[in-house]
Amino acid sequence: MFNAQRCLVAQSLEEAYAANQKRTAAVMGGMCWMKMGHRRLQTIIDLSALGLDQIEAAADEITIGAMVTLRQLETSPVLAAEFGSAFADAVRPIVGVQLRNCATVGGSVWGRFGFSDVLTLLLALDVEVELYPGGRVPLEKFVRMPPDDQILVSLRIRRTGRAVAIQSHRNSATDFPVLAAAASRTPAGAWTLTVGARPQRAMRVEIALPAHPTREQADAALAAALAEVPFGSNMRAGADYRRHLAGVLLRRAVLQIEGGEA
Ligand SMILES: Cc1cc2nc3c(=O)[nH]c(=O)nc-3n(C[C@H](O)[C@H](O)[C@H](O)COP(=O)(O)OP(=O)(O)OC[C@H]3O[C@@H](n4cnc5c(N)ncnc54)[C@H](O)[C@@H]3O)c2cc1C
Repeated sequence: MFNAQRCLVAQSLEEAYAANQKRTAAVMGGMCWMKMGHRRLQTIIDLSALGLDQIEAAADEITIGAMVTLRQLETSPVLAAEFGSAFADAVRPIVGVQLRNCATVGGSVWGRFGFSDVLTLLLALDVEVELYPGGRVPLEKFVRMPPDDQILVSLRIRRTGRAVAIQSHRNSATDFPVLAAAASRTPAGAWTLTVGARPQRAMRVEIALPAHPTREQADAALAAALAEVPFGSNMRAGADYRRHLAGVLLRRAVLQIEGGEA
């Protein structure tokens, strides 16, 4: 459990950012992950008064505030209308409703966790991270940036009409994933595939896939593409098993989008 001397309920992003410049300060999301650590902090910075707990759709993008919980992602009619069951499928296996009611999307993305189901899905979409004061950064770039003193304000998902699906495998329910994999396809037929929990952080997979692949075409393209993806071993699974799983889960995600057998 971490230790903090005071909690600052920030009244503006400027105030939150200014307070976060000290090494002994930290922004708090739902604190589900922070509470597992042992940091001795002077100040924890609460963003809950800044109205960042909303999911809003505009004509060209969907904004997800940093304080939106994983449970909100799971139950949002806005996200369900745009992306079907993908957000619910991504977060439903994460521990239980109580944790998902606390854990935030801001903490999940900021943490850049190797095991993240949330990052695996978001990387398959057209997402920018809005930082204060740095402004917007593509998510793919953000996940490779070292953590700094900025505030993650929101995620912006461009409404490009992508169809998307995510699959994951766990050794037992509520455990971290052995592997997570997502696929998305633009209306023009361009595919984006991601693998996460490799066990390293989620990444996109470069692949030559026809707009409407048969199962055989998908298998051949996936075998070639996954040969280039680094997988690792840990207590949950070996690298070879993860590579095999990636092929299976990505094929299922592609077929799910195609409306075929999964
Ligand atoms: C037991 C357990 C099991 C889990 N299993 C899974 C799983 O299977 N799959 C999965 O994807 N995830 C899993 N998670 C992770 C979880 O989903 C969240 O990603 C995690 O708890 C972080 O979210 P949080 O809101 O609790 O962030 P916090 O713990 O509050 O913060 C995490 C980090 O982000 C920083 N931070 C938070 N918000 C901001 C912000 N707006 N701006 C700048 N910095 C910020 C904090 O300072 C801290 O460094 C698990 C977590 C736990 C505790």
